[in-house]
Amino acid sequence: MSVRDIVQLSCKEVVELVTDYQEGALAVADRVTFEQHLFGCTWCMTYLQQVNRGVELTTQLREPSEPGPIDTQKLATLFRKWQSSK
Ligand SMILES: [Zn+2]
Repeated sequence: MSVRDIVQLSCKEVVELVTDYQEGALAVADRVTFEQHLFGCTWCMTYLQQVNRGVELTTQLREPSEPGPIDTQKLATLFRKWQSSK
């Protein structure tokens, strides 16, 4: 499989693949395509960083002594941007 054979993912597809990517459930070829899109797309890179932050915060929330706010506001803003860019 050459680079030219790699089908470009849309931002929507990237968003749908984020969970699989984080869980390591993507095939190597899919992972490469996913990462290629990320490197060329600031929006998706930012989105992934937001998602990662959300995961970290969720983990922190399991500690009863340290409740941290989940930045749902930012995620909602990103989601709205994504909706309007379709
Ligand atoms: Zn994108």
